[in-house]
Amino acid sequence: MTTTRFAPSPTGRLHVGNIRTALHNWMLARKAGGRFILRIDDTDAVRSQEEYVEAIRADLTWLGLAWDREERQSARLDRYEAAFALLRDAGRIYPCYESAQELEIKRKIALGRGLPPIYDRAALKLSDADRAAKEAEGVQPHWRFLLDHAESIMWEDGIRGVQKFDPAQLSDPVIRRADGSWLYMMPSAVDDIDMGVTQVLRGEDHVSNTAVQIQIFTALYAANFATGHDAAKNAPAFAHEALLVGSEGKLSKRLGSLGCDAFREQGIEPETIIALLARLGTSQPVEPIADRAALTASFDLATFGRAPAKFDEADLERLNTAIVHQLPYAAVRDRLPESMDEAGWHAVRPNLTHVREAAEWWQLVTGPIAAREFAEEDRAYLAQAEALLVWGDDPWGALTAALKEATGRKGKALFLPLRQALTGMDHGPDMGELLPLIGEAEARARLQQAAN
Ligand code: GLU
Repeated sequence: MTTTRFAPSPTGRLHVGNIRTALHNWMLARKAGGRFILRIDDTDAVRSQEEYVEAIRADLTWLGLAWDREERQSARLDRYEAAFALLRDAGRIYPCYESAQELEIKRKIALGRGLPPIYDRAALKLSDADRAAKEAEGVQPHWRFLLDHAESIMWEDGIRGVQKFDPAQLSDPVIRRADGSWLYMMPSAVDDIDMGVTQVLRGEDHVSNTAVQIQIFTALYAANFATGHDAAKNAPAFAHEALLVGSEGKLSKRLGSLGCDAFREQGIEPETIIALLARLGTSQPVEPIADRAALTASFDLATFGRAPAKFDEADLERLNTAIVHQLPYAAVRDRLPESMDEAGWHAVRPNLTHVREAAEWWQLVTGPIAAREFAEEDRAYLAQAEALLVWGDDPWGALTAALKEATGRKGKALFLPLRQALTGMDHGPDMGELLPLIGEAEARARLQQAAN
Protein backbone atom coordinates (compact mmCIF):
# COMPACT_ATOMS: atom_id res chain seq x y z
CA MET A 1 0.00 0.00 0.00
CA THR A 2 1.31 3.44 -0.89
CA THR A 3 2.45 4.99 2.35
CA THR A 4 3.87 8.48 2.66
CA ARG A 5 4.90 10.54 5.60
CA PHE A 6 5.33 14.14 6.59
CA ALA A 7 8.08 14.43 9.16
CA PRO A 8 8.35 17.89 10.69
CA SER A 9 10.69 18.69 13.55
CA PRO A 10 8.66 20.45 16.24
CA THR A 11 11.18 23.22 16.64
CA GLY A 12 8.93 25.92 15.18
CA ARG A 13 5.69 26.57 13.33
CA LEU A 14 5.03 25.15 9.89
CA HIS A 15 5.86 27.56 7.10
CA VAL A 16 4.69 27.55 3.53
CA GLY A 17 7.58 25.31 2.44
CA ASN A 18 6.70 22.61 5.00
CA ILE A 19 3.03 22.97 4.19
CA ARG A 20 3.78 22.28 0.57
CA THR A 21 5.71 19.12 1.44
CA ALA A 22 2.90 17.97 3.73
CA LEU A 23 0.32 18.62 1.03
CA HIS A 24 2.21 16.75 -1.66
CA ASN A 25 2.69 13.72 0.57
CA TRP A 26 -0.97 13.84 1.49
CA MET A 27 -2.00 14.00 -2.16
CA LEU A 28 0.33 11.21 -3.15
CA ALA A 29 -1.24 8.97 -0.51
CA ARG A 30 -4.84 10.02 -1.15
CA LYS A 31 -4.55 9.66 -4.89
CA ALA A 32 -3.25 6.11 -4.49
CA GLY A 33 -5.82 5.26 -1.81
CA GLY A 34 -2.87 4.80 0.55
CA ARG A 35 -1.83 6.02 3.96
CA PHE A 36 -0.41 9.33 5.11
CA ILE A 37 1.63 9.34 8.31
CA LEU A 38 2.43 12.33 10.47
CA ARG A 39 5.82 11.67 12.03
CA ILE A 40 7.06 14.06 14.66
CA ASP A 41 10.85 14.22 14.41
CA ASP A 42 11.55 15.12 18.00
CA THR A 43 14.86 13.44 18.75
CA ASP A 44 16.34 16.84 19.50
CA ALA A 45 15.00 17.12 23.04
CA VAL A 46 16.40 20.59 23.56
CA ARG A 47 14.86 22.28 20.55
CA SER A 48 11.63 20.25 20.29
CA GLN A 49 8.63 21.73 22.05
CA GLU A 50 5.21 20.33 22.76
CA GLU A 51 3.52 23.58 21.81
CA TYR A 52 4.91 23.18 18.30
CA VAL A 53 3.64 19.60 18.08
CA GLU A 54 0.19 20.92 18.91
CA ALA A 55 0.53 23.78 16.45
CA ILE A 56 1.55 21.36 13.69
CA ARG A 57 -1.52 19.23 14.34
CA ALA A 58 -3.75 22.31 14.44
CA ASP A 59 -2.31 23.69 11.20
CA LEU A 60 -2.69 20.40 9.33
CA THR A 61 -6.24 20.13 10.62
CA TRP A 62 -7.05 23.66 9.49
CA LEU A 63 -5.64 22.82 6.07
CA GLY A 64 -7.76 19.67 5.96
CA LEU A 65 -4.72 17.40 5.66
CA ALA A 66 -5.89 14.53 7.83
CA TRP A 67 -3.31 11.92 8.73
CA ASP A 68 -4.00 8.23 9.20
CA ARG A 69 -1.41 7.61 11.85
CA GLU A 70 0.82 9.68 14.09
CA GLU A 71 4.27 8.61 15.21
CA ARG A 72 6.87 10.27 17.37
CA GLN A 73 10.54 9.57 17.21
CA SER A 74 10.98 10.18 20.94
CA ALA A 75 8.71 7.17 21.58
CA ARG A 76 10.79 4.91 19.36
CA LEU A 77 14.23 5.13 20.92
CA ASP A 78 14.34 1.37 21.54
CA ARG A 79 14.02 0.78 17.80
CA TYR A 80 16.97 3.07 17.12
CA GLU A 81 18.92 1.29 19.82
CA ALA A 82 18.16 -2.06 18.17
CA ALA A 83 19.16 -0.81 14.73
CA PHE A 84 22.29 0.74 16.17
CA ALA A 85 23.34 -2.52 17.83
CA LEU A 86 22.82 -4.45 14.61
CA LEU A 87 24.77 -2.01 12.47
CA ARG A 88 27.56 -1.72 14.98
CA ASP A 89 27.87 -5.51 15.18
CA ALA A 90 27.93 -5.58 11.39
CA GLY A 91 30.83 -3.14 11.44
CA ARG A 92 28.82 -0.31 9.89
CA ILE A 93 28.94 2.05 12.84
CA TYR A 94 32.13 3.20 14.51
CA PRO A 95 33.03 5.41 17.45
CA CYS A 96 34.79 8.73 16.96
CA TYR A 97 36.45 10.95 19.50
CA GLU A 98 37.26 14.18 17.70
CA SER A 99 36.00 17.36 19.29
CA ALA A 100 34.01 19.86 17.29
CA GLN A 101 37.09 22.10 17.13
CA GLU A 102 39.30 19.31 15.81
CA LEU A 103 36.76 18.53 13.12
CA GLU A 104 36.57 22.18 12.19
CA ILE A 105 40.34 22.36 11.81
CA LYS A 106 40.33 19.27 9.58
CA ARG A 107 37.66 20.87 7.47
CA LYS A 108 39.62 24.08 7.09
CA ILE A 109 42.78 22.23 6.15
CA ALA A 110 40.96 20.24 3.48
CA LEU A 111 39.33 23.35 2.08
CA GLY A 112 42.66 25.18 2.18
CA ARG A 113 44.15 22.45 0.01
CA GLY A 114 41.27 22.75 -2.37
CA LEU A 115 39.85 19.39 -1.31
CA PRO A 116 36.25 18.63 -0.43
CA PRO A 117 35.87 18.60 3.37
CA ILE A 118 35.21 14.88 3.66
CA TYR A 119 35.77 13.25 7.03
CA ASP A 120 39.13 11.44 6.90
CA ARG A 121 38.03 8.39 8.92
CA ALA A 122 40.90 8.89 11.35
CA ALA A 123 38.78 7.29 14.09
CA LEU A 124 38.61 4.05 12.09
CA LYS A 125 42.35 3.67 12.49
CA LEU A 126 42.26 3.86 16.27
CA SER A 127 43.33 0.72 18.12
CA ASP A 128 41.41 -0.67 21.07
CA ALA A 129 44.11 0.83 23.29
CA ASP A 130 43.68 4.29 21.68
CA ARG A 131 39.96 4.15 22.31
CA ALA A 132 40.40 2.96 25.87
CA ALA A 133 42.80 5.84 26.47
CA LYS A 134 40.28 8.37 25.11
CA GLU A 135 37.56 6.97 27.29
CA ALA A 136 39.87 6.96 30.32
CA GLU A 137 40.33 10.69 29.66
CA GLY A 138 36.56 11.00 29.92
CA VAL A 139 35.91 11.49 26.17
CA GLN A 140 32.67 9.79 25.19
CA PRO A 141 32.49 8.77 21.54
CA HIS A 142 30.04 10.01 18.99
CA TRP A 143 29.17 7.53 16.25
CA ARG A 144 29.42 7.51 12.50
CA PHE A 145 27.86 5.29 9.89
CA LEU A 146 30.52 3.70 7.68
CA LEU A 147 29.64 4.29 4.06
CA ASP A 148 30.57 1.42 1.79
CA HIS A 149 32.80 3.01 -0.82
CA ALA A 150 32.45 -0.06 -3.03
CA GLU A 151 28.67 0.25 -3.21
CA SER A 152 27.85 3.02 -5.64
CA ILE A 153 24.63 4.85 -4.91
CA MET A 154 21.93 5.24 -7.50
CA TRP A 155 18.21 5.86 -7.49
CA GLU A 156 15.54 6.89 -9.91
CA ASP A 157 14.22 10.06 -8.37
CA GLY A 158 10.51 10.69 -8.95
CA ILE A 159 11.27 14.29 -9.90
CA ARG A 160 14.97 14.58 -10.67
CA GLY A 161 15.42 11.40 -12.69
CA VAL A 162 18.42 9.12 -12.19
CA GLN A 163 20.65 10.26 -9.34
CA LYS A 164 24.14 8.88 -8.80
CA PHE A 165 26.49 9.43 -5.91
CA ASP A 166 29.99 8.21 -5.28
CA PRO A 167 30.03 7.35 -1.57
CA ALA A 168 33.74 8.20 -1.41
CA GLN A 169 32.75 11.80 -2.02
CA LEU A 170 30.59 11.85 1.11
CA SER A 171 31.54 12.03 4.77
CA ASP A 172 30.53 9.14 6.95
CA PRO A 173 27.60 10.78 8.71
CA VAL A 174 27.48 11.20 12.46
CA ILE A 175 24.33 9.37 13.48
CA ARG A 176 24.57 9.57 17.26
CA ARG A 177 25.94 12.20 19.59
CA ALA A 178 28.30 11.58 22.49
CA ASP A 179 25.43 12.06 24.93
CA GLY A 180 23.62 9.13 23.29
CA SER A 181 21.04 11.28 21.50
CA TRP A 182 20.17 10.64 17.85
CA LEU A 183 20.73 12.71 14.80
CA TYR A 184 18.14 12.62 12.05
CA MET A 185 19.86 10.30 9.57
CA MET A 186 19.41 6.77 10.94
CA PRO A 187 16.13 7.13 12.89
CA SER A 188 14.43 8.37 9.75
CA ALA A 189 15.50 5.26 7.82
CA VAL A 190 14.49 2.99 10.71
CA ASP A 191 11.07 4.64 10.81
CA ASP A 192 10.57 4.38 7.08
CA ILE A 193 11.23 0.64 7.35
CA ASP A 194 9.08 0.06 10.44
CA MET A 195 6.19 2.14 9.13
CA GLY A 196 6.24 0.60 5.68
CA VAL A 197 6.85 3.91 3.96
CA THR A 198 6.86 3.34 0.20
CA GLN A 199 7.41 6.92 -1.02
CA VAL A 200 9.64 9.58 0.47
CA LEU A 201 8.85 12.97 -1.00
CA ARG A 202 10.77 15.91 0.44
CA GLY A 203 12.77 18.97 -0.46
CA GLU A 204 15.89 18.84 -2.60
CA ASP A 205 17.92 19.94 0.43
CA HIS A 206 17.65 16.26 1.40
CA VAL A 207 19.19 14.79 -1.76
CA SER A 208 22.55 14.03 -0.18
CA ASN A 209 20.80 12.62 2.90
CA THR A 210 19.01 10.23 0.58
CA ALA A 211 22.34 9.04 -0.80
CA VAL A 212 23.46 8.16 2.72
CA GLN A 213 20.10 6.75 3.77
CA ILE A 214 20.01 4.39 0.82
CA GLN A 215 23.13 2.75 2.22
CA ILE A 216 21.59 2.71 5.69
CA PHE A 217 18.50 0.93 4.32
CA THR A 218 20.68 -1.62 2.55
CA ALA A 219 22.81 -2.17 5.64
CA LEU A 220 19.75 -2.57 7.89
CA TYR A 221 18.13 -5.08 5.57
CA ALA A 222 21.42 -6.94 5.18
CA ALA A 223 21.65 -7.14 8.97
CA ASN A 224 18.11 -8.57 9.05
CA PHE A 225 16.65 -5.63 10.88
CA ALA A 226 13.28 -7.04 11.99
CA THR A 227 10.52 -5.20 10.25
CA GLY A 228 7.49 -6.81 11.84
CA HIS A 229 5.79 -6.65 8.46
CA ASP A 230 6.56 -8.30 5.19
CA ALA A 231 7.13 -5.31 3.01
CA ALA A 232 9.67 -5.72 0.24
CA LYS A 233 13.17 -5.25 1.57
CA ASN A 234 13.86 -2.22 -0.53
CA ALA A 235 14.46 1.39 0.24
CA PRO A 236 11.35 3.48 -0.47
CA ALA A 237 11.03 5.35 -3.75
CA PHE A 238 12.44 8.86 -3.42
CA ALA A 239 11.46 12.15 -4.96
CA HIS A 240 12.93 15.55 -4.17
CA GLU A 241 11.13 18.70 -5.07
CA ALA A 242 12.76 21.97 -5.96
CA LEU A 243 12.64 24.48 -3.15
CA LEU A 244 10.14 27.25 -2.81
CA VAL A 245 11.48 30.76 -3.33
CA GLY A 246 9.97 34.21 -2.99
CA SER A 247 8.74 36.16 -5.99
CA GLU A 248 12.20 37.78 -6.25
CA GLY A 249 13.56 34.31 -6.91
CA LYS A 250 15.44 34.01 -3.64
CA LEU A 251 14.96 31.97 -0.52
CA SER A 252 13.37 34.64 1.57
CA LYS A 253 13.13 35.12 5.29
CA ARG A 254 9.50 36.00 4.84
CA LEU A 255 8.69 32.57 3.40
CA GLY A 256 10.38 30.95 6.36
CA SER A 257 7.94 32.60 8.73
CA LEU A 258 4.80 32.66 6.63
CA GLY A 259 2.40 30.07 7.99
CA CYS A 260 -1.21 29.24 8.72
CA ASP A 261 -1.68 31.96 11.34
CA ALA A 262 -0.66 34.66 8.89
CA PHE A 263 -2.87 33.18 6.18
CA ARG A 264 -5.85 32.97 8.50
CA GLU A 265 -5.37 36.53 9.64
CA GLN A 266 -5.18 37.68 6.05
CA GLY A 267 -8.43 35.87 5.30
CA ILE A 268 -6.80 33.35 2.99
CA GLU A 269 -8.78 30.12 2.77
CA PRO A 270 -7.16 26.73 3.28
CA GLU A 271 -8.45 25.77 -0.17
CA THR A 272 -6.58 28.70 -1.68
CA ILE A 273 -3.30 27.58 -0.16
CA ILE A 274 -3.98 24.03 -1.29
CA ALA A 275 -4.84 25.07 -4.85
CA LEU A 276 -1.70 27.20 -5.13
CA LEU A 277 0.76 24.83 -3.51
CA ALA A 278 -0.58 21.76 -5.31
CA ARG A 279 0.49 23.18 -8.67
CA LEU A 280 3.26 25.67 -7.98
CA GLY A 281 6.48 24.47 -9.55
CA THR A 282 4.67 21.99 -11.79
CA SER A 283 3.80 22.24 -15.48
CA GLN A 284 0.11 22.35 -14.58
CA PRO A 285 -1.51 25.77 -14.39
CA VAL A 286 -2.33 27.19 -10.98
CA GLU A 287 -6.10 27.54 -11.04
CA PRO A 288 -8.72 28.37 -8.42
CA ILE A 289 -9.79 24.77 -7.97
CA ALA A 290 -11.76 24.48 -4.74
CA ASP A 291 -12.54 20.83 -5.37
CA ARG A 292 -9.79 19.01 -3.58
CA ALA A 293 -10.62 15.66 -5.09
CA ALA A 294 -10.12 17.14 -8.56
CA LEU A 295 -6.78 18.64 -7.53
CA THR A 296 -5.70 15.35 -6.02
CA ALA A 297 -6.70 13.44 -9.13
CA SER A 298 -4.51 15.72 -11.25
CA PHE A 299 -1.53 15.55 -8.88
CA ASP A 300 1.42 13.95 -10.65
CA LEU A 301 5.11 13.99 -9.73
CA ALA A 302 5.98 13.76 -13.42
CA THR A 303 4.73 17.34 -13.83
CA PHE A 304 7.17 18.74 -11.29
CA GLY A 305 9.99 20.83 -12.66
CA ARG A 306 13.51 21.18 -11.35
CA ALA A 307 13.53 24.96 -11.24
CA PRO A 308 12.69 26.58 -7.89
CA ALA A 309 8.97 27.15 -7.42
CA LYS A 310 8.15 30.84 -7.05
CA PHE A 311 5.71 31.77 -4.37
CA ASP A 312 4.06 35.13 -4.90
CA GLU A 313 1.74 36.45 -2.23
CA ALA A 314 -0.15 38.46 -4.85
CA ASP A 315 -1.17 35.17 -6.50
CA LEU A 316 -2.60 34.10 -3.20
CA GLU A 317 -4.98 37.07 -2.98
CA ARG A 318 -6.15 36.68 -6.57
CA LEU A 319 -6.71 32.99 -6.16
CA ASN A 320 -8.44 33.50 -2.84
CA THR A 321 -11.12 35.72 -4.35
CA ALA A 322 -11.92 33.11 -6.97
CA ILE A 323 -11.96 30.35 -4.38
CA VAL A 324 -14.25 32.28 -2.00
CA HIS A 325 -16.74 32.63 -4.87
CA GLN A 326 -17.00 28.85 -5.03
CA LEU A 327 -17.14 27.92 -1.37
CA PRO A 328 -20.30 26.08 -0.35
CA TYR A 329 -22.33 27.33 2.60
CA ALA A 330 -21.37 24.31 4.71
CA ALA A 331 -17.70 25.22 4.44
CA VAL A 332 -18.16 28.74 5.80
CA ARG A 333 -21.30 28.61 7.98
CA ASP A 334 -19.34 28.88 11.24
CA ARG A 335 -17.77 32.12 10.14
CA LEU A 336 -20.96 33.84 8.95
CA PRO A 337 -23.37 36.04 10.88
CA GLU A 338 -25.79 33.82 12.73
CA SER A 339 -28.89 34.81 10.80
CA MET A 340 -27.27 34.33 7.42
CA ASP A 341 -28.67 31.31 5.65
CA GLU A 342 -27.58 29.51 2.52
CA ALA A 343 -29.47 31.88 0.21
CA GLY A 344 -27.80 34.79 1.98
CA TRP A 345 -24.39 33.28 1.43
CA HIS A 346 -25.12 32.71 -2.24
CA ALA A 347 -26.31 36.30 -2.61
CA VAL A 348 -23.23 37.95 -1.11
CA ARG A 349 -20.55 35.43 -2.10
CA PRO A 350 -19.79 36.95 -5.54
CA ASN A 351 -19.00 40.30 -3.88
CA LEU A 352 -16.41 38.99 -1.47
CA THR A 353 -12.67 38.80 -1.60
CA HIS A 354 -12.57 37.37 1.94
CA VAL A 355 -15.25 35.43 3.80
CA ARG A 356 -15.17 37.85 6.72
CA GLU A 357 -16.64 40.60 4.51
CA ALA A 358 -19.89 38.64 4.36
CA ALA A 359 -21.01 40.31 7.58
CA GLU A 360 -20.87 43.80 6.03
CA TRP A 361 -22.98 42.77 3.08
CA TRP A 362 -25.38 40.90 5.29
CA GLN A 363 -26.17 44.15 7.03
CA LEU A 364 -27.87 45.26 3.85
CA VAL A 365 -30.42 42.54 4.54
CA THR A 366 -30.74 42.83 8.30
CA GLY A 367 -30.40 46.62 8.38
CA PRO A 368 -30.12 49.28 9.48
CA ILE A 369 -29.04 50.60 6.11
CA ALA A 370 -27.52 53.97 5.32
CA ALA A 371 -30.13 56.68 4.82
CA ARG A 372 -29.98 58.34 1.40
CA GLU A 373 -31.33 61.64 0.04
CA PHE A 374 -33.26 61.42 -3.22
CA ALA A 375 -34.23 64.10 -5.69
CA GLU A 376 -37.91 64.94 -6.02
CA GLU A 377 -38.28 62.97 -9.24
CA ASP A 378 -36.72 59.85 -7.74
CA ARG A 379 -38.88 60.09 -4.65
CA ALA A 380 -41.95 59.90 -6.86
CA TYR A 381 -40.38 56.99 -8.71
CA LEU A 382 -39.72 55.13 -5.46
CA ALA A 383 -43.29 55.73 -4.26
CA GLN A 384 -44.48 54.25 -7.52
CA ALA A 385 -42.13 51.31 -6.96
CA GLU A 386 -43.69 50.62 -3.60
CA ALA A 387 -47.13 50.71 -5.18
CA LEU A 388 -46.10 48.31 -7.96
CA LEU A 389 -44.32 45.87 -5.68
CA VAL A 390 -45.90 42.44 -5.95
CA TRP A 391 -44.41 39.72 -3.83
CA GLY A 392 -44.05 36.58 -5.95
CA ASP A 393 -41.28 34.17 -6.84
CA ASP A 394 -39.13 36.86 -8.34
CA PRO A 395 -40.14 40.18 -6.79
CA TRP A 396 -37.16 42.05 -8.24
CA GLY A 397 -37.73 40.83 -11.80
CA ALA A 398 -41.43 41.64 -11.55
CA LEU A 399 -40.85 45.06 -9.99
CA THR A 400 -38.30 46.24 -12.50
CA ALA A 401 -40.36 44.97 -15.43
CA ALA A 402 -43.43 46.79 -14.11
CA LEU A 403 -41.49 50.01 -13.48
CA LYS A 404 -39.89 49.94 -16.89
CA GLU A 405 -43.30 49.57 -18.48
CA ALA A 406 -44.90 52.26 -16.33
CA THR A 407 -42.12 54.88 -16.41
CA GLY A 408 -40.08 54.21 -19.53
CA ARG A 409 -36.96 54.33 -17.37
CA LYS A 410 -34.15 51.96 -18.20
CA GLY A 411 -30.60 51.15 -17.23
CA LYS A 412 -29.14 53.11 -14.38
CA ALA A 413 -32.17 55.37 -13.99
CA LEU A 414 -34.33 52.30 -13.55
CA PHE A 415 -32.11 50.34 -11.21
CA LEU A 416 -29.91 52.67 -9.18
CA PRO A 417 -32.56 54.54 -7.13
CA LEU A 418 -34.09 51.16 -6.25
CA ARG A 419 -30.77 49.72 -5.12
CA GLN A 420 -30.01 52.88 -3.14
CA ALA A 421 -33.42 52.88 -1.49
CA LEU A 422 -33.38 49.18 -0.71
CA THR A 423 -29.76 48.82 0.43
CA GLY A 424 -28.38 52.31 1.05
CA MET A 425 -25.55 51.48 -1.37
CA ASP A 426 -24.65 52.23 -4.98
CA HIS A 427 -23.43 48.74 -5.67
CA GLY A 428 -23.55 45.36 -4.07
CA PRO A 429 -24.92 41.86 -4.44
CA ASP A 430 -27.39 40.92 -7.12
CA MET A 431 -30.73 42.55 -6.22
CA GLY A 432 -32.65 39.58 -7.55
CA GLU A 433 -31.14 37.49 -4.80
CA LEU A 434 -31.10 40.19 -2.16
CA LEU A 435 -34.68 41.40 -2.35
CA PRO A 436 -36.31 38.10 -1.29
CA LEU A 437 -33.93 38.03 1.66
CA ILE A 438 -34.86 41.55 2.71
CA GLY A 439 -38.49 40.45 2.69
CA GLU A 440 -41.67 42.19 1.65
CA ALA A 441 -42.46 44.23 4.75
CA GLU A 442 -38.95 45.56 5.11
CA ALA A 443 -38.70 46.29 1.38
CA ARG A 444 -41.92 48.30 1.49
CA ALA A 445 -40.72 50.17 4.55
CA ARG A 446 -37.42 51.06 2.89
CA LEU A 447 -39.10 52.25 -0.30
CA GLN A 448 -41.56 54.37 1.68
CA GLN A 449 -38.79 55.81 3.78
CA ALA A 450 -36.89 56.79 0.63
CA ALA A 451 -39.97 58.24 -1.03
CA ASN A 452 -40.71 60.58 1.88
N1 GLU B 1 12.58 16.22 10.06
C1 GLU B 1 13.15 16.27 8.75
C2 GLU B 1 12.96 17.67 8.21
O1 GLU B 1 12.10 18.37 8.68
C3 GLU B 1 12.47 15.25 7.88
C4 GLU B 1 13.08 15.03 6.57
C5 GLU B 1 12.45 13.84 5.88
O2 GLU B 1 11.38 14.00 5.30
O3 GLU B 1 13.01 12.75 5.95
O4 GLU B 1 13.69 18.10 7.34
